[in-house]
Amino acid sequence: MVQPPRAVQARSTDRRWSPRPNDVTPDVRARIDSDATVLLSQRRLRTSVAAGAGLVWLALVGLWRSADASAQVAIIVGSYIAAVWAIGFWVSHVQRTRGWSVAATVLADLALIFALALALSPPSYYDRILIFSFFVLHLTEFYFGRSYSMMAVLMVIACYLVVVASAIAQGAPLVWGEELWSLAVFAIAAAVFVFELGNRRSRLYGIVGLFERAEEGDFTQEYDVDSDKRSDAITAVGSAYNRVRSQLASMVLTDPLTGCLNRRGFDQALAREVSRASRAKSELSMLALDLDHFKRVNDTLGHMAGDDVLRRIGELLLQTARGGDVVARTGGEEFSILLPDTGAAGAYMLATRLCETVRERPFQAGSEQVGITVSIGVVSATPGLVPPTSAEELARRADEALYGAKRGGRDRTRVWTEDESQPRPSVELRGLRWE
Ligand code: GH3
Ligand code: MG
Ligand code: MG
Repeated sequence: MVQPPRAVQARSTDRRWSPRPNDVTPDVRARIDSDATVLLSQRRLRTSVAAGAGLVWLALVGLWRSADASAQVAIIVGSYIAAVWAIGFWVSHVQRTRGWSVAATVLADLALIFALALALSPPSYYDRILIFSFFVLHLTEFYFGRSYSMMAVLMVIACYLVVVASAIAQGAPLVWGEELWSLAVFAIAAAVFVFELGNRRSRLYGIVGLFERAEEGDFTQEYDVDSDKRSDAITAVGSAYNRVRSQLASMVLTDPLTGCLNRRGFDQALAREVSRASRAKSELSMLALDLDHFKRVNDTLGHMAGDDVLRRIGELLLQTARGGDVVARTGGEEFSILLPDTGAAGAYMLATRLCETVRERPFQAGSEQVGITVSIGVVSATPGLVPPTSAEELARRADEALYGAKRGGRDRTRVWTEDESQPRPSVELRGLRWE
């Protein structure tokens, strides 16, 4: 029976991805269209919108106004388009963008809105500026992030105050109280908008990051549905990801024959447990198991019978290990077991018990029953003795101990010691440490 991988289940809750504002992982950021690409692709959009707005104004209002006003519109729109293309030209030749080219583009957008409003609208319609600025705010927040959109909001507020003050100074029929009220409503709406959109943006990119990890076979993180105060469409995508994750994780990380983790699942679990043990200064042991003379089983009874034995060995290991242990089939007839929070004595006890159980138990192989023996290498990481080692080093030492057990005559347990390279006739428990 294929069981879901223990390692994934046991540790999933402490590796949740929670949406935090502007929490865009470096991997994701690399994939997101760079600011340069966005600026270049929006050149035509900006040109069309500015030219379109100018033409609509001319069609609706300009025909009834002086030729001067039409000329002003042409100059303002023309200057804006020239500025956008000049920034684009610089960006496309340097092939990347610095902050200022985004800032300059946003300022050009705002300048267009202010200039058109000042040139074409009577002072009593100046609050249109605040409405049009929302378009700029939307684009800026969506494509360039919170710092640029906050800059845009502050610029709009400051420039609007200057515009109103100078209009009032020139005798325009504007009332400070009314204008400040409009500005306050704009500021509140803009702040809510920037926060909300920015939050959604970062949550979406967080989910993209989860998919990217999954693409590389890393299913250790799940979307933290509970941290969404109000569940929305993004929460639904997150929980859909979690459902797919648990199914894919068991397919990608599990060995279908035995139900144990496969090599990929084991490598992930090993890296995670080594860093956890090193952080928590806790003990960690590893067993490397290899069935003895397994080739003979295949040669005499056939591969199908050999598979039966492997399946039953996997079941036995899964039954014997504790809940937090990680059991994996790391090769053809090789298995590994990780024992978190277990020291050398405990690991050695388990290994000898496994050795005895396998030796004494007859295994069904096709229509026959066969006796199997196993050799086991044991390595333990004891915190505090010496600095922690890497996952690779731990696995290498377990392998060294295993081959020591093979050299020593098979059907036995061997504990790794510092002089493992020297053949030794007996198993000893002293001198266990890792470097
Ligand atoms: P040793 O005691 O030195 O480990 O001897 P061994 O015969 O077990 O080792 P060796 O590495 O020479 O052979 C391993 C054998 O395991 C070879 C192959 O027939 C068998 N094997 C590997 N993967 C599978 C598998 O998925 N199914 C079956 N039935 N046999 C496998
Ligand atoms: Mg082998
Ligand atoms: Mg073998």
